[in-house]
Amino acid sequence: MALGAVLLLLASPLLAPQLLAFPHKTETPIGTVWSEEELDPDMLSLTVEHTQERLRTSPLAEANEQRWVFITDGGWRWKYVANISSSAFAITRPLSPAVIVNRTDPNSGVIRNGRELGGERELGGLLAHEFAHELIRRNYGRLASTRFPTWKVEGYCDYVAGESTLTEAQVARLKDDNEDHPALIYFEGRKRVEAILKANGGSVDALFEEG
Ligand SMILES: [Zn+2]
Repeated sequence: MALGAVLLLLASPLLAPQLLAFPHKTETPIGTVWSEEELDPDMLSLTVEHTQERLRTSPLAEANEQRWVFITDGGWRWKYVANISSSAFAITRPLSPAVIVNRTDPNSGVIRNGRELGGERELGGLLAHEFAHELIRRNYGRLASTRFPTWKVEGYCDYVAGESTLTEAQVARLKDDNEDHPALIYFEGRKRVEAILKANGGSVDALFEEG
């Protein structure tokens, strides 16, 4: 009975988006990449290299991290899996190895979430960010990880990505104008994480063990 429920859950497109019949599929060193549009092979190989290079900066990462990656065009497949988070750049499901990415340009690898400010990210860094979410959950526990503060989790994921949605200049302008932005917590989280890791000799365990 319980096993049946688990199997049913695993068969749900929310956990197994390949059931949404993505037309293109490519095997890469970072896992199988499904996509709605045909991805430029050079863009894809540069993306894979960039993601791997960024993951090497995390002691939580194994040498050959792989996920299922689903690149959408922001259409019905994205809206179906992203649901209420549809303005996100990507979604990583807590119980599945799948990363689902919002509207991606198949030639440049630029992802757009529809925002005017902080509306673009680049695929290689974004995948490193999303892979890092799973590194945290795998190393510190799926349940325990839900209790970590958002700034720390998103800050560490952006730290692994080596970049944030907002640039220094954009953040400075937001501060000048006294304006808030949903991506500020990521940027500020990355700065805090950077400072903590610098002070503790780079111990990610110490960063997360303090809660
Ligand atoms: Zn994130």
